Amino acid sequence: MNTEQPYLLTPGPITTTLSVKQAMLQDWGSWDGEFRAMTAALCQRLIALVDGERSHVCVPMQGSGTFAVEATLATLIPKQGKLLILMNGAYGQRMGRIMDYLGRDYVALDKGDYAPPRAHEVDSILAADPAITHVAVVHCETSSGILNPVAEIAETVVRHGRRLIIDAMSAFGAIAISAREVPFDALISSANKCFEGVPGFGFVLVRQSALEASQGHAHSLSLDLFDQWQYLVKTGQWRYTPPTHVVAAFLQALDEHAQEGGIAGRHARYQRNQQRLVAGMLQLGFETLLSDEWLSPIIVTFFAPGHANFDFQTFYDRMKARGFIIYPGKLTAAESFRLGCIGQLYDAQIDAVLESVAAVLDEMEIPTGAPAHALNAQQN
Ligand SMILES: *Cc1c(COP(=O)(O)O)cnc(C)c1O
Repeated sequence: MNTEQPYLLTPGPITTTLSVKQAMLQDWGSWDGEFRAMTAALCQRLIALVDGERSHVCVPMQGSGTFAVEATLATLIPKQGKLLILMNGAYGQRMGRIMDYLGRDYVALDKGDYAPPRAHEVDSILAADPAITHVAVVHCETSSGILNPVAEIAETVVRHGRRLIIDAMSAFGAIAISAREVPFDALISSANKCFEGVPGFGFVLVRQSALEASQGHAHSLSLDLFDQWQYLVKTGQWRYTPPTHVVAAFLQALDEHAQEGGIAGRHARYQRNQQRLVAGMLQLGFETLLSDEWLSPIIVTFFAPGHANFDFQTFYDRMKARGFIIYPGKLTAAESFRLGCIGQLYDAQIDAVLESVAAVLDEMEIPTGAPAHALNAQQN
């Protein structure tokens, strides 16, 4: 299926099926009834995946995932509101930058590179600061791959009568979440992660009552989620040119997602990829950044080998020559790299990744993937 092109071991864009790519071989009129029906189907199917039929609506937004995050924060948080951002990586930090641009008030609970925010911490911050109206959390913080404890956080946020916004960009589609159990006002995701579509739009599953109350909040015309929704309700169309081919590919991707067993089926394959990958890497001496409890089936951070011969760019280039695009790490303290488990990856690809890592270490004359701290411990 994919003999020439390298596999993407990255958290999006990911390796898609041939049938998803082929779904784009047609042109659609954005105002045409056929395309409006495609948009309606897309929204209805996404809402069903979170049991949100009675409470939530789906608003798609052109652009990459960040456009949808920015639109959500700008539309749902009133100008006089205040956001608590639970940060443990780049995507939480990015929400802070968005708030800076918006000029709206926020505080951060910053746990550094990868420690999880816990409910008791959120509890004391909310108790001490009644001005906070909203809380934002990243479901899978793709920077480290950690799966944050969203359910316990949601429970705390709601108990304090505040509103929850979830950046589920890299989790939704593979990690189950129900609007009936986790009471969120907004869940944000995009086409090109666990649903295995191609990049081009994000979407927000948003509580209808919260969206109804949000008119006039947005700072931006094109990122006004309320306006986008109103136009969709009135006309069945996106405001401004939709990524028609991307939507067609996404509907095909949703079919394939359902055929695989929906969220549970996709989760099972990614989890299997992750376990096979981690087990093989440990045998080569590598160590994961996170303890097993916090590993997600989305992407895994490994410490770089501590051996003096290791050089990330060389490692990257040699992995690419063998057909795999890996992902650099994002830690401030230690050298690391990441391997994604999502997209069209199965046992055969994971085994080939492991063989390639072993062969590349060999070529670089690095006897073990063990990180510096493990090598130092051995010497002492
Ligand atoms: C991918 C991702 C985003 C959005 O990134 P874009 O590059 O704008 O698509 C946001 N949050 C998380 C957690 C992500 O993994």
